[in-house]
Formats: sequence, C-alpha cells, structure tokens
Amino acid sequence: MTAARNEAIGARRLTRRVLVRSGGREIAIGGGAPIVVQSMTNTDTADAIATAIQVKELARAGSEMVRVTVNTPEAAAAVPAVREQLDRMGVDVPLVGDFHFNGHRLLAQYPDCAAALAKYRINPGNVGKGARRDDNFASMIEVACRFDKPVRIGVNWGSLDQELAARLMDENAARPEPMTADAVLREALIRSAIESAQRAQEIGLGADRIVLSCKVSGVQDLIMVYRDLARRCDFPLHLGLTEAGMGSKGIVASTAALAVLLQEGIGDTIRVSLTPEPGGDRTREVVVAQEILQTMGLRDFAPLVIACPGCGRTTSTVFQTLAADIQAYLREQMPRWRVTHPGVESMRVAVMGCVVNGPGESKHADIGISLPGTGESPVAPVYVDGERTVTLKGDGIAREFQAIVDRYVERRFGARGE
Ligand code: SF4
Repeated sequence: MTAARNEAIGARRLTRRVLVRSGGREIAIGGGAPIVVQSMTNTDTADAIATAIQVKELARAGSEMVRVTVNTPEAAAAVPAVREQLDRMGVDVPLVGDFHFNGHRLLAQYPDCAAALAKYRINPGNVGKGARRDDNFASMIEVACRFDKPVRIGVNWGSLDQELAARLMDENAARPEPMTADAVLREALIRSAIESAQRAQEIGLGADRIVLSCKVSGVQDLIMVYRDLARRCDFPLHLGLTEAGMGSKGIVASTAALAVLLQEGIGDTIRVSLTPEPGGDRTREVVVAQEILQTMGLRDFAPLVIACPGCGRTTSTVFQTLAADIQAYLREQMPRWRVTHPGVESMRVAVMGCVVNGPGESKHADIGISLPGTGESPVAPVYVDGERTVTLKGDGIAREFQAIVDRYVERRFGARGE
C-alpha cells in the first residue's frame, strides 16, 4: 500500500510553485507541495460577521484557503473587516477574492480590500469587452503586482471570452478538416487561460504568482481540457468540476473527474463545488475534497474509518451506528488533534460487521473491532496494531471502543500544547 501511495504522490506533474501568504502563514501551491484544499463561502460578503463565521467553519473543517465573492462596493469594503474578525478569532486561513465584471474598479477603489486578500481570482471572460477588457485586466494585474499578490486566472465554460471563441470558430471553419464545436470551445478555454497568463507576465506579474484553472461542468470535457492544459504550461493548476450539482450526483461527478486527473499527477489545488441542500452544511465540500485526496493516498486529513457494507449476516444496526459515531467523533477531534497529536490523521480504524472479514480487516488497521453478526457469540474482539487485545461485550461496546481509540491516540501520537 505504501509503495502504491508513494508512486501516486511521486507521479505529480512538475510545476512552478506559487506562495500564498496570510499573516504569518504561507501556503505553497504546486512545485511538489501537498495538494491544497479550498472552498468558497456562500454568504453575502458585505455581511462581515456572517462571512467570517462561515470562513471559520470552513477553515475548521480543513479548508486551507477560502474564497469570498467580491462583487459590490459594500463587499469590497467589508473584506478588511472579515480579515480582522478572523484574526481576532485566531483563524489565519488565507482569503481569496473572487472578482468578475467590476473587479478592476473594486480593487482600485478599495486598496484595503486588495491588501487584506491573500490572492485574487480573475476570470478573463468577465472583465469587459474589446479594448476595455485589456485595460480592465491590466489594471487588476497591476494591483496584484503592487500588493505582491498571486492571481488565479480562472476561466470558466459558462463565461468564456466570447470574442476569442468566435475568432477560433471562424479559424476552425476555414480549416480543411474542421474540429468539432466542442473541441474548439475546449481550445478556447485553454487559450484564454494561457494567453491571459502571458499578458499578466507582460504587465509585470511573475510567473511564480500565477495559478490557472479551466473549469467546465462535464466530466469528460474537464479531463480533456486539463490534460491539454497541463501539457501546454507549467503553471500550477486549480482543479474542480464547476456546477457539479447536489448530493451524491455532485460528489460522484467531482470524484470521477478529479480522480482521473489527480492519478495522472494533474492538479495542485482542488475545490469540490457542491450545491448544498437548502440549509445544508457548507463544510461538506471540504470533507469531500479531503476524502478524495485521502482515499487516493495523496494526503491524510483525518483518521480513516474502514467499515464493511454489512449484509444478511448483520441484522442489527449496531455496527452501522458504531461506524458512524466513531467517524464523527474522530473528525470532531481533528481541529485540536491536528495541533496536539500530529500524525493522527494517518490512523486507520476498522469497524466490521461479522467474523467473515472482521478479524482480518481489523488486523490490517491500527485499531479494529469485529462486531458479532447474527447468530454469533455476542462478543466483539478488538485488535490494536494487528494484535487481538480485549474482547468487548454488553451495552457499553461503543463507549469502551471509543476509550480504547482515545488511549491509542494518546499513546502513539502524544499530547502536545494542551
Ligand atoms: S464483514 Fe461480515 S457483515 Fe460485513 S459485509 Fe462482510 S460478511 Fe457481511
């Protein structure tokens, strides 16, 4: 398993490294750095308190950068207050500003906003038309240079530069063997990103201050676009399926697309763009992004619970409840354990439903419990580091197992800074 994992990590595409700084914190994107998990708020940024609270929740869930929309003068004016509020709460996560249409004006008119943000996202398809587009783009890049901020040039299928698309369509029509319209649009996305990056460099932005993305909403399109983009530049790439959708569809589509590209070494930072259920938890997108990276063996974020699916041998819900409870418990501890118990994120805990695979899988995990299936003796052997230790029985199995996990974490990963 370790060799396969090292191979996956070692096969990463070589890119430049972009540093994102926020207060005393520095996060590297690309250049062999661990793949960064990002997310985005859905609060009105003008409401500084609500935005700061959601940023804090996303950061607590493990988001390493959080993007906020900066769409109005009120939002731009609130960004420094969001930053201050976060600093007061001890949350040092870098804030990324998402600009469209009026970003050139907002960045120029609100220098405190420009300074408070750690990175800007600029969509070249949404910066204006004709000569104004070039001027607006240039003025945003000039602000980035002045404040020494990295920029993500983020092209999106839904807001592609229409003049570029029309030009490429015309060129394509004149070819002896024209490409399909979809292929031309994919080429337009890539060209928009790469040409915008070249333009940003001509204006004075360092190549080591540029991240690119070309987001589309179709899995196969995304894979094709990023393979091509990765071949044609050495900028770090932000990966994500845009408008992935709700619930399991959004998770499956994002995972399918990102897993293929990550396995090929493509992608230096990721976001999973899930549409939350009404009133749903925004942090879900962070957890899914982490789980994609962790299950692929690319990073560790929280102890992994290995649970069997259950079958006709498990007619009670005891083992599902135990698996769910222990998973929730481990994740809840992570904001603290991340600091006090480094390394705990690589721990594997098995919760198995019966004797068929229970003991075997439990022995492979750091800690495992094999619950009794229907008709089996009502006892649950516990395995620690591959050795059978105690056998639990009765109503307190869940509580006792959690205590065993706690003691193991304490012993193996030590307590620091409590
Ligand atoms: S370990 Fe037992 S309960 Fe779980 S799926 Fe396998 S046979 Fe069924």
